[in-house]
Amino acid sequence: MISRRDQISSIILEKVQTSKNGILVDVIERDIISDNISYDDFYSVLIDLFKNGEIGFIFEIRCPNCGDVLGSFCSIKDIPEKIQCYTCNRLFIKSLDLEDALRVYVYDKKFFRKYRKRMCGHVRFRTVSDAL
Ligand SMILES: [Zn+2]
Repeated sequence: MISRRDQISSIILEKVQTSKNGILVDVIERDIISDNISYDDFYSVLIDLFKNGEIGFIFEIRCPNCGDVLGSFCSIKDIPEKIQCYTCNRLFIKSLDLEDALRVYVYDKKFFRKYRKRMCGHVRFRTVSDAL
């Protein structure tokens, strides 16, 4: 007998493993949440998969104004307080803009282990000092 959590787990893992370049958490959420699977069920299983090392997350910041990628990070706490967009000059301010600017990608564990260093900690645009 397959438990409900195992069922959700296998749907998530199948989606992640078939997406070579990572898959947006929003996309999985949209596909998976239904009458039978609630938002809470989904996120609870997703976090367990992360804790067990089955999946990895990359946090991408996009300019809230023009949508250009400002950087990608391995954790929320690695995201700088302020990043200025070179394309439109808009200043991203973490405490105000995070919710709008954040995109969370989910990766398969093998891919994540191999490419984590390459994908994380990139600030493609300039980080500005807190003095600004
Ligand atoms: Zn911009």
